[in-house]
Amino acid sequence: MAEKYKYPTPMRAIKEYATVDGDGYKEFETIAKNYQSMKNYFFSKYSGISGLKKGFNFYNCRNECTKENQKVGYKLSSSYWQECLKETLGNLKTYWVQIFKEVRKTITNNNKLTEQEKRFLKNLLTSKEAIGQICFNEFDLKKFIKSNKRLWKKYKEEFGNDIIGGIGEERIGYLFKYIKRVVRKHRSSAKTPYTHNFNYFIASSITYSQKGGRLKVTGVSKNQRVETELKNKRVKLKGQMQVNIKEGTGKVVITRVVKVKKKKDKGKGIRGVDKGYTDLLTSDTGKAYGKGYSQKVRPYVEEQSNKQAQRNYYWSLVRKYEEYGDFKKAERIRKNNLGFVKFNRAKNKFQGLKKTEINRAINDFFKAERPNKLYSEDLTWESKKKNRSKKIQNELSQWDKGYLRERLYFKSYINNCSHEEVNAAYTSQFCHKCGHFGNRDKKHFECLNEKCQWQSDADYNAAVNIKNRIKIKEITVYTSYNKVKQILLNKIKN
Ligand SMILES: [Zn+2]
Repeated sequence: MAEKYKYPTPMRAIKEYATVDGDGYKEFETIAKNYQSMKNYFFSKYSGISGLKKGFNFYNCRNECTKENQKVGYKLSSSYWQECLKETLGNLKTYWVQIFKEVRKTITNNNKLTEQEKRFLKNLLTSKEAIGQICFNEFDLKKFIKSNKRLWKKYKEEFGNDIIGGIGEERIGYLFKYIKRVVRKHRSSAKTPYTHNFNYFIASSITYSQKGGRLKVTGVSKNQRVETELKNKRVKLKGQMQVNIKEGTGKVVITRVVKVKKKKDKGKGIRGVDKGYTDLLTSDTGKAYGKGYSQKVRPYVEEQSNKQAQRNYYWSLVRKYEEYGDFKKAERIRKNNLGFVKFNRAKNKFQGLKKTEINRAINDFFKAERPNKLYSEDLTWESKKKNRSKKIQNELSQWDKGYLRERLYFKSYINNCSHEEVNAAYTSQFCHKCGHFGNRDKKHFECLNEKCQWQSDADYNAAVNIKNRIKIKEITVYTSYNKVKQILLNKIKN
């Protein structure tokens, strides 16, 4: 089964403190200043659509900059400006992710496009280079389709195999012009990134050496070395590190990012868990963790939704007054009734409480069951389909789902347990014993098969189905809801 989501190795930051010898401190300040100026230069050089066309690829950009450096001479040795370039390109990727998000929204809200055209454009938006090339009229659609087979698989299932013919060449020409316009519009309304923070630089392993508590770092020019004394003499620095200058103190803070440690010994056995609102996790052993979650959070959910309703009312007043041209009154309501400080504080407090509950539930699960393989359901697709009703939801909120998911991956990693998400479709609606569909009423499940009639805890039933889903080879995380149903029905017939 193909995994939809690959959890990145979790990292954590460690800080070390050092005192700089004599005048070396000024040298550090110069590096940091030049480093950050360089960053602003790279921002202006690559943040535009021309940078997009290069896909923010480090090697291509580095080659280009090496040539430029030979001509104009950067004010930093190559090991520093290359780290700076790497960091800048990383920031620009995130910057464009935000712009593309806006572009996607604009496409979704455009009623003049068909569903097929929207999907077509969104597939193009998965590639930065493709969009960059379209903007420069250098895009080769046939080549792009050919080299991204997996991307178009779902599209073809839904809209047919002939992608270009299906939409029509003329219309595709129009769509290219359209996306060009939308991308340019959103890029120009986003601020070009710029840093005002001139007090740190990133040093790669070739720019420093360590002997005991002494740390030598390359200066602005290659041949200079700045010497420092580490506070913790036993630490062994490795790899990339960020050097933060504490202005006027002669001291620096060194931050390194290291992999989070995981337990050496693996657990035992395969487990499936169902994620729920009443109880956060139910295992296929029948045990539940984070019991009564919904009851614990309900009062806060109500409070929040009441507050939100009140705010919506004030927003409507603001709009009304602005329509009538009474901007003073509108502003007063904004200030007095629609502030964010208190509202956000309450929200953060509530999320803190939920975090505690969620972490405790997962910890309890691993403490009690400690598997070496874990399956849970992929809930990411669900959220998009359901309309968000204003009533208090009887299910996990978007935030809950996201946090629970991230934590489940994280704690699986720490516990040296592999974790994979499976297709969630119908896992709570059919009987794990006989495969027939049944009735689910909140926590209770009842099999509709006369010969079986199994009935008991619905979440337990779902957990077993989640664990067993991996055995049904035809169902991958990409299989549609309807197709899953067909596959399950066929199984009963055979
Ligand atoms: Zn049954």
